[in-house]
Amino acid sequence: KAKEAGRDQYCFFEDEMDAELKHKHKIERDLRQALQEPDKNGLRVVYQPQVSANGRHIRGFEALIRWEHPVRGNVSPVDFIPIAEETNLVIALDEFVMKEAFKTALKWPEVTMAVNVSAKELHQDNYPHKIIALASEYNIRPDQIELEITESVLLEDSPRVAKTLKILKAAGFKIALDDFGTGYSSLSYLRRHQVDKLKIDQSFVASIGVREDASAVVQAILSLGESLGLSVTAEGVETIEQRDSLRKRGCAYLQGYLFSKPLEEKSIVQIMKKFKDRNDQQRLQKIS
Ligand code: C2E
Ligand code: MG
Ligand code: MG
Ligand code: MG
Repeated sequence: KAKEAGRDQYCFFEDEMDAELKHKHKIERDLRQALQEPDKNGLRVVYQPQVSANGRHIRGFEALIRWEHPVRGNVSPVDFIPIAEETNLVIALDEFVMKEAFKTALKWPEVTMAVNVSAKELHQDNYPHKIIALASEYNIRPDQIELEITESVLLEDSPRVAKTLKILKAAGFKIALDDFGTGYSSLSYLRRHQVDKLKIDQSFVASIGVREDASAVVQAILSLGESLGLSVTAEGVETIEQRDSLRKRGCAYLQGYLFSKPLEEKSIVQIMKKFKDRNDQQRLQKIS
């Protein structure tokens, strides 16, 4: 009896693994096809504003991929980026995002443009040269571009990644450490790789005022940023309480639904105008 039950269990897992594998293969196949003609196949880039701590100025945007699948509807990057990484499709995907982001950045030279860079790419030999060539082709100043890499990339301590980051830095690109606080970065990594910016992971921001220890982590990252001369952005800011707490603790930049969801490219003009009008108004009020 037990043996039978054991076999059922085994079959159950096998079926489940089978289904998962099939799902992965379908996503891979569809994504590969979508990347042939991204614009026509539901792939597009949206842009989320990053604002100054006082909430009055837009300092930059983060480019984020969106995929409107013809059958599945919206597929979240959380679901397909890992598959894209496993299959190396992320290289073509990020190139598409980078080109779109460069085109947009060219229209808004006063703001920074952040793009996510997968660990996979940093391991490629030709990556820095590819990005440098692309920026020059699109007439983009590298110092307008912030490359967001996850902290786990530095933990590998790979000489190739170190060299890649060094070349990109020398060309003028800014480096931001995404999802910071979830890995185990040491001070020496941060110094050695000349990171410019830390992005506090949204899980810590979400716990502000809810969990003591999360607030302590936020405080620790801000102190770390200050002592190393790095600016800090908080992601996933959704409430006024979170904003006020981060502002009070000296966080320089804020990003989250409280200020804006990621926007279509054509909506950037409106939000830039909205922020500008708001500031003009305040300036006028001060004068009169
Ligand atoms: P990430 O780089 O840490 O991006 C932040 C994520 O938080 C985005 O999710 C954004 O839409 C979401 N977010 C922003 N504000 C809020 C908020 O106030 N509350 C909540 N709950 N969420 C907020 P998204 O766009 O689904 O992307 C998820 C992850 O997928 C990204 O995390 C990034 O790691 C990856 N990703 C997205 N686009 C790209 C891309 O073009 N290339 C690569 N390689 N990875 C990407
Ligand atoms: Mg990011
Ligand atoms: Mg993040
Ligand atoms: Mg993330």
